[in-house]
Amino acid sequence: MPRFRHVFFDLDNTLWDFQRNSDAVLDALFADFALKERGVTDAVAFKARYHVHNELAWKAYREGRTDAQRLRWERYHRTLDDFGCADRNLALQLSAAYLENLAHQAHLIDGTMDLVAALVPNHQLHIITNGFEEVQQGKMRRSGLAPHFRTLTAADTVGVPKPDARIFQHALNLAGAVPGESLYVGDHPEVDGASEALGIAFAWFNPRREPNRYGHARDLARLEELVGHLA
Ligand SMILES: [Mg+2]
Repeated sequence: MPRFRHVFFDLDNTLWDFQRNSDAVLDALFADFALKERGVTDAVAFKARYHVHNELAWKAYREGRTDAQRLRWERYHRTLDDFGCADRNLALQLSAAYLENLAHQAHLIDGTMDLVAALVPNHQLHIITNGFEEVQQGKMRRSGLAPHFRTLTAADTVGVPKPDARIFQHALNLAGAVPGESLYVGDHPEVDGASEALGIAFAWFNPRREPNRYGHARDLARLEELVGHLA
């Protein structure tokens, strides 16, 4: 019996290549909504400003300063505002089109499927994500991940996002797992690393090789390295 019978994964930027998939959708939105004609300089600037506002919006969401509905459109409203063309209706349309198209993108982080194939025989795999349940389920289906995962726990369903301990507890309950036999893998050293507060071991997926400020014992440059930490 392996020590970690249950391996929980973050989804965005851990298994599912959020950056690449998101950029592809933003390029399409820039063209489809004729954003250049509205005053947005170019697609590169659009993606750069969106990225800034998206990060700020998610931080506000995690800290309880905004809700899921507001987060969705406000990041576009603020991006448009940077180019002097703030428009609430347009922001709502961009938000809806973005989420719909994002779930159709299927690029995974290198090594994802090899890792999944290596783990499935001896481990039960699960997802814990701060994304929206409906969107994340779509990503799981489109990318081919869905059949390999037993459970998915999303912040909007639980009502609280990571790093709140309640989302990790919810995921344990759903999986029928106890902390001592569980490992969580995620790309955010603080938000995902909060699993340790419940006694769930943490592996940090750190492909950009950022300094290990939190002293995480499992610091992975590539997903495949996880296998060596499960023995
Ligand atoms: Mg992530």
